[in-house]
Amino acid sequence: MPVTLGHEVAGHLDDGSAVAVWPLVACGTCDRCTAGEVSQCRTGPGRVYGIGRDGGMADELVVDPACIVPLPDGLGVGDAALVEPIACGVHALRRGGMRSGERVAVVGAGAIGLGAAAAARWMDGSVDIAARHPAQRQAAEQIGVGPDPGGEYDVVVDAAGTEAAIAKCVELVRPGGTITLLASYWEPVAFPQFFTMKEPVLVGANMHGRDATGTDMEAAARMLADLPEVSRAMITHRFPLERAREAFTVAADRAAGAIKVVLEP
Ligand SMILES: [Zn+2]
Repeated sequence: MPVTLGHEVAGHLDDGSAVAVWPLVACGTCDRCTAGEVSQCRTGPGRVYGIGRDGGMADELVVDPACIVPLPDGLGVGDAALVEPIACGVHALRRGGMRSGERVAVVGAGAIGLGAAAAARWMDGSVDIAARHPAQRQAAEQIGVGPDPGGEYDVVVDAAGTEAAIAKCVELVRPGGTITLLASYWEPVAFPQFFTMKEPVLVGANMHGRDATGTDMEAAARMLADLPEVSRAMITHRFPLERAREAFTVAADRAAGAIKVVLEP
């Protein structure tokens, strides 16, 4: 892409205060923004830092003041790059209407899936996650979510984006429950035969937004402050910016144990 990457960003302002960056810059004027649904902004990803314009893999980044997310006590700047991916999980659970005490299954245990599982636990759910690699299973255990989903769940989150994951979601959802599609679908996927017999509610989730209680980014930051074990479990590697090439190689090798790799300028 013809931009500097990096949409999962934390850093210091000129005055020294530690912040995360909400990379989504909604237009604020289209019909969806006016309705309060900034994640559905008509301008799409072109205004997102690190995707449509220069992002955070740099020594300095200039952002709109509206994108500044002050960090709560208990969350260090070195862990706060996790705020953005976890906000995606918070958003997916809110979109899925998850309520306290519900059973939640997450299919896929990359950073997005683990973050969603942690958020569901923080939102007082009973959570199990389907993981592929040993390091992911270990991280899930550290976060306090169960392995190997079985039985029925009120809310099932697809954080894998494959046809097998969709089939698993349909298998795990209770009749009338919700399947939240949090993954990126790089290929077309088919749904299993007769999947509507359970009458599942299918909900798409894109990035993050806000509701009456605040923004998903703020909620994710509070969650990371409340549950410090999440950062410890999810950040498996740290590299200085000048070793970015090596960092990408490590990040690409999930089987070798990478979950989230942080670049530190
Ligand atoms: Zn808009």
